Amino acid sequence: MPGSRAQTILPRAASRTPTMDTRIQAADEAALLQASRLLHADQLVAFPTETVYGLGGNALSTRAIDRIYAAKGRPRFNPLIVHIPEVAAALDLVTDWPDAAVQLAQRFWPGPLTLVLRRAPSVPDAVSAGRPTLALRVPHHPVALRLLAACGLPLAAPSANRSQGISPTRAEHVAASLRAADVPLILDGGPCQHGIESTVLDLTSSPPRLLRPGAIPLLLLRQTLAERGLAVAAPPPVSDDAPLAINESDPASPGQQRRHYAPRTPLTLLPSFDEDALLALPAPRGLLGHLDVPALSAHCAVVERLPDDAPGYAADLYAALHRLDDVTPRLASIAVLPLPYGRAQTDDLWQAIRDRLLRAAAPPT
Ligand code: AMP
Ligand code: MG
Repeated sequence: MPGSRAQTILPRAASRTPTMDTRIQAADEAALLQASRLLHADQLVAFPTETVYGLGGNALSTRAIDRIYAAKGRPRFNPLIVHIPEVAAALDLVTDWPDAAVQLAQRFWPGPLTLVLRRAPSVPDAVSAGRPTLALRVPHHPVALRLLAACGLPLAAPSANRSQGISPTRAEHVAASLRAADVPLILDGGPCQHGIESTVLDLTSSPPRLLRPGAIPLLLLRQTLAERGLAVAAPPPVSDDAPLAINESDPASPGQQRRHYAPRTPLTLLPSFDEDALLALPAPRGLLGHLDVPALSAHCAVVERLPDDAPGYAADLYAALHRLDDVTPRLASIAVLPLPYGRAQTDDLWQAIRDRLLRAAAPPT
């Protein structure tokens, strides 16, 4: 499990605002009971998963679903992922459970893999933004599983943050992003293990195809299905001009908007380790990366050093972005060091990280 090895170098002048919020509660029996009551009353509860914190509501209630979209300011065309406690619960929610789903669920659930299947008529249109499909996963986090068991409901749960913003990997991130009137309870499960969203695989197309790179490498999905003679469609080739998942015009892949996961402070992916690119950005600057580059750090007010392995980098990425965004006085720019070149071209998890950073760097719409 990736640990929290990020290192922050903060100048004396800079400080951060501490967050204290009574909505944040340890997930004991009393809190789970309260959560269950709220969910049965169509209210929302934030809870930890192994990827990021989710904003949960009853997936069978259009009132709860409407509240999720409103609390996040999420565009109504972007469908929600539904969380279930075990594979058997999927069978009530979809009309078709193909062989590929059997294989993948057996190997990767509970875990950060989301499968898109054909939606059963009993599930409200609103949860899938009117699509005939439904995205499902069984999360691998003890608090999420206890909550699902306690309430006995399938929970629609997108990331618990305002739309387009940085995803939350700590309870405090949720409290800072969503209003108490919208989210009366935040179950605390500490930092999220993966820190990056689930991999989304569409099983309604033939062959299945990747809609979002994420915590489970595509290579593993391919291997699992190949053992049964099944294929996965090749994702578009990756190059700097055509990054893997910037495909917002693709109607099969809703919600993959260009700008996403973005801090308020403008973020730039440096094209090289040259000082010039960094100096072109306005000061005070924050620097984020997996290497110590003194020539660049010298021009930055704050430096966030991340682990140089992909699981460690992913686990700390959003927390580091939150910290940079919260520095007082505010930074004028955040620069991100180039990702490890060879590995970032070929490794699925580095690709998922790159996807998030490219979206975080996209200008506001
Ligand atoms: P989020 O929960 O915010 O991490 O985003 C959920 C992602 O799952 C979206 O970006 C969608 O691309 C994907 N998704 C959810 N439901 C569907 C669906 N029915 N069809 C295709 N993609 C979906
Ligand atoms: Mg999200």
